[in-house]
Amino acid sequence: MKRLSPLRRISIGLVLLTISILLTGDLFFGVMSEGPDSRLEARRRLTEALAVQFSSLAAKNDFDTVQVTLENVVERSSDVLSAALRTVDGTIRAEAGVHSRYWEDIPFDKSTPTAAQVPIYMGNERWGTVQIRFTPLAGIGFANLLSSSFIQLIAYVSITGFFAYMVFMRRTLKHLDPSAVVPRRVKTALDALAEGVVFIDEKSEIVLTNSAFRDQSGSTTETLLGIKLSDMNWMRPAGVHNIEDPPWQQAIRSGKKQVGTRMCLDTPSDGIKTFTVNGSPILDDDGKSRGVLVTFDDVTELEEKNNQLHELVAKLKGSRDEIHRQNEKLQILAARDPLTDCLNRRAFFERCEAEFAVAVADESPLSSIMLDIDHFKNVNDTHGHAVGDRVIQSIADRLRSVLRSIDIVGRYGGEEFCVLLPGLNTDQAAEIAERLREQIEEHTCEDVNELERAVTISLGVASLQASTMDAAQLVDAADKGLYASKNNGRNRVTRWDDLNEVNVA
Ligand code: GH3
Ligand code: MG
Ligand code: MG
Repeated sequence: MKRLSPLRRISIGLVLLTISILLTGDLFFGVMSEGPDSRLEARRRLTEALAVQFSSLAAKNDFDTVQVTLENVVERSSDVLSAALRTVDGTIRAEAGVHSRYWEDIPFDKSTPTAAQVPIYMGNERWGTVQIRFTPLAGIGFANLLSSSFIQLIAYVSITGFFAYMVFMRRTLKHLDPSAVVPRRVKTALDALAEGVVFIDEKSEIVLTNSAFRDQSGSTTETLLGIKLSDMNWMRPAGVHNIEDPPWQQAIRSGKKQVGTRMCLDTPSDGIKTFTVNGSPILDDDGKSRGVLVTFDDVTELEEKNNQLHELVAKLKGSRDEIHRQNEKLQILAARDPLTDCLNRRAFFERCEAEFAVAVADESPLSSIMLDIDHFKNVNDTHGHAVGDRVIQSIADRLRSVLRSIDIVGRYGGEEFCVLLPGLNTDQAAEIAERLREQIEEHTCEDVNELERAVTISLGVASLQASTMDAAQLVDAADKGLYASKNNGRNRVTRWDDLNEVNVA
């Protein structure tokens, strides 16, 4: 519902006040209304006056004069319907109006507001009665109420009063309106600002606005003046959860300048707008806050751009993460052998180089095992390539289950694997190689049940020596051990240092 302007509300208030004063005045003094009581009294007096006059005329038997008098009364008085002079035995001696019709069912000798009767005496004896029939008394019922002059007066006062008060108040307020006392050039200067400017008093009520704020808020001076600034449709900006007093309230309370509060206003024409709001208290000589100068910087467009930028950044971040994930996948794909998920030869050597450098720097042991499936060609030839693949997978799984997580396993060639064991010397590596040999011989048939006989592997073991130049040399030494195992009947482990001893021997 559209709010009435303060001017109209004050005018209506004044009209109501005036009516109240008129009503209470009438209640106390009865000056305005001519109530039924006064008219009843007049009727009684008229009837008595006629009775006095008629008793002397009756004594003279002058009923013609009585007749003329009665006719005059009926004719001249608009509220008299009929009148008659009736003797004690009920005979009408003179009458005006159709008295016998109007005087029906009237109790004997009893006056009512519409039927007055006064007895006439001759000497001490009752001779007759003067009877007058009146119209019903006005003043009772809604129609009568409306036609009552008092009500008409009230209606007149209400309507003319409302407009008169409006004009009067408008002129008065113009003088009282604080914005009216602001010099025109100051107003022009305020209107020239792009920022919205609002002056409020210590009750937070708006006393002056500039045109920028009126445009920003989609309001007029009339609707803004006198209302509390906080009563406008302020909203919390998205993402702001703490409920704080608006900056102008804080400025009034603390007497300190409040800067850069973000606030949203639901405006009738442009929807929700975002502002950066500052509040500077206006202090009196005692340092008390007398009001606040509030400024509103419309940052709606900036905010929208900001939000769009945030969305864009979020999207970019999402796609960057996706690229990162894809890259990781690619790296894994590029580094891993798809059949066994072991490192491929290139990736294995990269890791070997790194481990070699660490071991040399730390002077820690580092060993390598090289292994190859014995007579694997027979497996393929007997059971087919698919079974051969599953044998290779089963051996890779067995290697992973026996080895530690820090050990590095690479698929070196078709049915050849190479293992790097950081921190282990030749004895420990040879022990692990032996365990691998046993496990594979024992369990591969369980994994691949098409096999008719156990699968065995040959292994070579070598460790980092002072003379070892690089990782490739270490692996090569292990490969020499493997070669010896193959030559010496397969399904065995050969240490490279044992070979050297033989050579030395
Ligand atoms: P040795 O004991 O001397 O190692 O005999 P071998 O039969 O294992 O050796 P050889 O080098 O003669 O044969 C290796 C075979 O391994 C040849 C090749 O077809 C097969 N092979 C290599 N890679 C794969 C693979 O990925 N899957 C299958 N099913 N077979 C493979
Ligand atoms: Mg082989
Ligand atoms: Mg081979």
